[in-house]
Amino acid sequence: MRTETPVAVKLKDYTPYPFEITVVTLDFDLGAQKTVVKAALSITPRGQGAMRLDGEALHLNYVAVGLAGEPSKPVDPADFTVDARGLTLHAPPQQPFVLETEVEISPEANTALSGLYLSGGRLCTQCEAEGFRRITFYPDRPDVMSSFRVRMVGPKDEFPILLSNGTPGASGDLANGRHYAEWIDPHKKPAYLFALCAGDYDVLRDTFTTMSGKHVDLGIHVDKGDAPRAAWAMDALKRSMRWDEEAYGREYDLGVFNIVAVRDFNFGAMENKGLNIFNSAYVLADESTATDFDFEAIESIVAHEYFHNWTGNRITCRDWFQLCLKEGLTVFRDQNFSADMRSRPVQRIKDVIKLRARQFAEDAGPLAHAVRPDTYGAIDNLYTATVYEKGSELIGMLRRMIGNDKYREGMDLYFARHDGQAVTIEDYYACFEVVSGRDLSDFRRWYAQAGTPEVRVTEAWDPATGTLKVELSQSVKPTPGQPVKHPLPIPLLCALLDGKGGHTAEPFLHVLEKSNETLELKVPPGSPRPSLSVGRDFSAPIRIDRNLTREDRLALVKAETDPFNKWDGLQTLIKDEIIALSDGSQTNPDHELVAAIASAVRGAKDDPAYAALLTRLPEVGELFLDRQPADPVALAAAQKKLKTALYHQLANEVSETLKAAPPAPYHPGAEQASIRAMRTAFIGLLSASDSRDAAPALYGLYERAPNMTERLSTLRALMFTKGGAKSEAISHFEALWKNNPLVMDKWFSVQASTGTAEDVKRLIAHPAFDLKNPNRVRSVIGAFAMQNLAAFHAPDGSGYRAVEATILAADKVNPALGARLITAFEQWRLLEPKARAEAEACLKRLVEAGLSENAMDIAGRALAGGA
Ligand SMILES: [Zn+2]
Repeated sequence: MRTETPVAVKLKDYTPYPFEITVVTLDFDLGAQKTVVKAALSITPRGQGAMRLDGEALHLNYVAVGLAGEPSKPVDPADFTVDARGLTLHAPPQQPFVLETEVEISPEANTALSGLYLSGGRLCTQCEAEGFRRITFYPDRPDVMSSFRVRMVGPKDEFPILLSNGTPGASGDLANGRHYAEWIDPHKKPAYLFALCAGDYDVLRDTFTTMSGKHVDLGIHVDKGDAPRAAWAMDALKRSMRWDEEAYGREYDLGVFNIVAVRDFNFGAMENKGLNIFNSAYVLADESTATDFDFEAIESIVAHEYFHNWTGNRITCRDWFQLCLKEGLTVFRDQNFSADMRSRPVQRIKDVIKLRARQFAEDAGPLAHAVRPDTYGAIDNLYTATVYEKGSELIGMLRRMIGNDKYREGMDLYFARHDGQAVTIEDYYACFEVVSGRDLSDFRRWYAQAGTPEVRVTEAWDPATGTLKVELSQSVKPTPGQPVKHPLPIPLLCALLDGKGGHTAEPFLHVLEKSNETLELKVPPGSPRPSLSVGRDFSAPIRIDRNLTREDRLALVKAETDPFNKWDGLQTLIKDEIIALSDGSQTNPDHELVAAIASAVRGAKDDPAYAALLTRLPEVGELFLDRQPADPVALAAAQKKLKTALYHQLANEVSETLKAAPPAPYHPGAEQASIRAMRTAFIGLLSASDSRDAAPALYGLYERAPNMTERLSTLRALMFTKGGAKSEAISHFEALWKNNPLVMDKWFSVQASTGTAEDVKRLIAHPAFDLKNPNRVRSVIGAFAMQNLAAFHAPDGSGYRAVEATILAADKVNPALGARLITAFEQWRLLEPKARAEAEACLKRLVEAGLSENAMDIAGRALAGGA
């Protein structure tokens, strides 16, 4: 454990690696306690000087060098140095040579889940970003691309299936119950895409024929008995493969594609070439154990990892500063895939909810950073909403500005020009400049400037000339390290609405370039004043500030023709209402607003998933940015008040809808999921009813629930009720699912995200709480600290104290996880004074107690960074 902040890495310090590694041959002698790794690297020097290889937690047995055609010789101990971070060859040969090393590693002792580790008795790897250096000595950086050949040897009973990247080669039995398998990857790749899995799995198999008629064998490897639960993931994989052919002309490039599900995993999933490794939560699903939310997440994550094969693997990042090049682009691709599979407006709204909740919060706090930052501390902490979600929005803006056809042309050029290379954001944008003939250097400032732009819109109407004068002004608040901000090109999709469900003029795109601009929008003289619809489809990742009265806003919501803006207009009204109720400036919810929400819900009957989103009240954390200091306790109480009022307004619809039987037989696709989304929303509303009949009604629904979607939503709703039904449901659910860890994660999460600090202490003490399993830790500590803000940020500090020791313990076991949990403190400066003082004291106690480098990077920035 170190408590110093990690050394900052800077983009401007980039230099190419001075050696080319043409071929990597890896020989694994596999064992849970001890694995021996022999590596032979074929190296061509590009310059002179020492050779530095990364390596951590490796026990070195030997290092040898051989010139071409000669046997290798051990390197004299005086000619190399090994330190805690790697190995230096002081004077490597000046001609092509082979470097051989042998190291020992202990997968069983690896609780950081980075490198080669043991999960459920099986071996697996996680190498992004810097895990490969925990397997062997290697230049562990994405711009070193090489051909990998892997041979694995191990006991056949313990590891009957041996997988790596590429295509299988020779395999067979050896003496003493051992066997071996070879894998050859014909595509050059950086080390972070290396993968190995060894163990006993059940396999769901299928095949796919690519657009040019090539046959691909597909396999999803899961726990014994779980193969049927991988069917939806397989279906999603085949749809993703087809979609990438149709939407981007990209075909799969190997004869084999494998997925392995792992229970202990730090992330969602990993796109290793030809061998994707998944958190089992994003592979396994059936109607009795998974919700529609899980099915949807599986569909989107399977697609995301598959799409990386071209955006990430075939073309990778030159350095980790370019992470958004693969992540932002691939998120954009998976969001569009999901929109094509489901409802496009609903998908757009869900993406924006996520962006605002996570990325806008990041931008407004001490952890704010650019989509492509110019410096970072701990690399694991760069996997942020800014890089992913905002990175995706930037691609969306690019496509909107140059049009779909030019976007596709630019992508085609990118694939043609850079296949097999490690490139930069500049290389990517150069392709779009070529095809569009436009200079995109101003637009690229979006990558360098942190913070959420705010656009202020002011209107003046001149009836005599039929002119709506619209003044637009943009600004960005300072962020840590960036006190001065510059204007950005902001594409604003606009329309003039006639108030009768139509447009006065066709929707148009205006790109706001300067700090201040004025638009004069003309309608035929004598026409009534049109309403301005701006930022349609959330055309830019900004906040829009309009100086409108509640009456204006209600009228605008009614006139809106854009489904996103209609939803968003209501959300703005709802936010204002919750804030007014929370600060005492209003005692009761405004009847007109509640009636408007209800009427919008009724009007959206044809698209129940959209109607469900209209009933959604913003989470407490989303309101932090709208009024400071933020008082989570008061906000939660105000939100509840509004929810109760909305329930009463929609009580008939709620009871009619919940009386009907849920769709059967179950199918996870969009059509049924949409109907269930409406039911789930109404179940949530019912929990806010103050009637004593609500709890028994919910318990009845819970008992009869034909699938996990309804079972979990009723369980969650019961958490907000009083009386025996709640504890009865908690016990019943646990007894039913105690042997299914993924379902038990939900059980923990439902209670942690709704309960008190005392509840969380009880959950931490539960025998099934496991510090070594990230899903379980997140289901308790993450759910409490990130979704239950009124309890976590309690003014007496009880929420912080309930989880503090566990965060420290989790960080000791797994620094990536520890750091992620501490991001829950990112908004502490926005809090009301009591919680704010308690949060600061807690952060200081954590630092004092000693954190990993990863966690210290977050805690240090959180404490230091007042923008
Ligand atoms: Zn990704």
